[in-house]
Amino acid sequence: MRYLCLPAFLILWLAPSAAQRQQQAPQSQEKILIKAGKLVDVRAGRVLSNQNILIQGDRIVQVGPDIAAPAGARTIDLSDATVLPGLIDNHTHVLLQAHPTPSDYDEQLIKESIAYRAIRATVSAQIALNNGFTAIRDLETEGAMYADVDVKTAINRGVIPGPRMFVATRSLAPTGMYNPTRFSWELRDMPTGTQFVDGPDEIRKAVREQIKYGADWIKFYADGGTQFRDGGVHSRPNFRDEEAKAIVDEAHRLGHKVAAHAGGREAIEQAVKAGVDSIEHGNGVDEALIDLMIRQGTYWCPTLYIYGRGGRNANSEMSQFRAANFKRAVEKGVKIVYGTDIGGYAWTETQTGDFALMVKWGMTPMQAIQSATLGGATVLEQQERFGSIEAGKFADIVAVAGDPTADIAALDKMLFVMKGGVVYKSR
Ligand SMILES: [Zn+2]
Repeated sequence: MRYLCLPAFLILWLAPSAAQRQQQAPQSQEKILIKAGKLVDVRAGRVLSNQNILIQGDRIVQVGPDIAAPAGARTIDLSDATVLPGLIDNHTHVLLQAHPTPSDYDEQLIKESIAYRAIRATVSAQIALNNGFTAIRDLETEGAMYADVDVKTAINRGVIPGPRMFVATRSLAPTGMYNPTRFSWELRDMPTGTQFVDGPDEIRKAVREQIKYGADWIKFYADGGTQFRDGGVHSRPNFRDEEAKAIVDEAHRLGHKVAAHAGGREAIEQAVKAGVDSIEHGNGVDEALIDLMIRQGTYWCPTLYIYGRGGRNANSEMSQFRAANFKRAVEKGVKIVYGTDIGGYAWTETQTGDFALMVKWGMTPMQAIQSATLGGATVLEQQERFGSIEAGKFADIVAVAGDPTADIAALDKMLFVMKGGVVYKSR
C-alpha cells in the first residue's frame, strides 16, 4: 500500500537508469600511467606515437605526449606496443558452447542444467576478456533463461572477471520457429531456445517480462533457414508485420533497443521497416536493403567469420554475393559493427576472426577497428563511457605487438588487457 502513496517523481527516481544497470563494483583510486609506443586514436582514425595515458581509479584522466607520472602513480610500460581502446564484440553467446551438429545444441539444453551452463559461461566471459573484448552484447541465452543477467551481475560486482555485458536474455520467435526441433510431441514442455510468442499482445507481454528480469536488448528471430536463389538470399519471415512492429514498438517505448536475427532479404526488409536497431548476420543484404538501412539508420552486425571459418564456403555463390554486398555497404556507409557469434562456434577457437574477413571484403584495418570500438560503443549508446581512449571514459585499454592498422592480424594476440583501470592480462 505504501508504494501507492509514493509521489510520481519518486517512482521515476526508483527506476534504474541505463548507467545504474551497468554499475560496477567500487574501485580503488590508484593512479596509473601507461606509456604507449603507439596509440590508436579511433575517433580521428590515426595512429599517434609516444603517448601517455593517465588513469585514476576506473577512469582515464588525461591523454597526451607530455604527461608525467604524478607522485605515487604506477607506470605500465607499453612503449614497444600498440595501445587501443578495449574491443567490443556485439554478438556473443556466453551460455552456448558450440554446436557442430543439432544434437550438440540439444545436449546443452536437455542434459545440462542452467546452473552448469552458467558455470561454463563464466569461463566464456573470462576468455572474451583475455581476447581483448572489454564489452560484449550477449545476444540470447539459448534456453538458459535469464542466466546472462546473473553472469553480468557477477562481473559487475567483481565476483568473476569478464567484460561489460549487455544482455538480451531469452529472445523471441513464434511457436515452432526455433530449436530444438525433431522431438516427440510428448516432450512439448522441454526447454526451448527462445521464448515462443504469437500475436502482438503476447509479444508485448514477453518484451515487458524480459525487461523486468534484466534484458538490456530485445532480440527476435525474424527468420530461420535461408536459401540462395535468383541471385539473392531468401527466406520466409517468422512473424507477421504487425508482430515485428509490436516487438520494436514495445521495446522502444520502454527505452530498450532491438536486434533482429535476419538472413534472407524478406526478413531483413521486414525487420528494418519495423524499426529494429540492428540486423544480425544479414546474409541477404543487397543494394536496395543497403539504401533502406542507411535511410533508417539501422546498424549491421554481419558476423562474417562463423559462416566462412576454415575457408568454408569460400567460393560459394552465397559467399561471393555476401562479399560484394559487404563491400558495397562499406562504400555506401552502412553503420557496421563488429560481432562474431562466438558460442555458436567454440569459445576456444578465435574471437578476432571477423577482422580478417572485414578487411578482405573491403574495410581498411582502421575501419574494422572502429567497428569494434567507437562504432560498437555507439550501437550500445555507451560512446560517452567507452569505445575510445579519451579523458573521462572508462580505462578499458588493450595492447598488441605490431601495428594492427597495418596488419589486422596483430589483434589475434593480446599482450595486455585492462578494464575499468584493473589489469586482467599483461606480459
Ligand atoms: Zn547468434
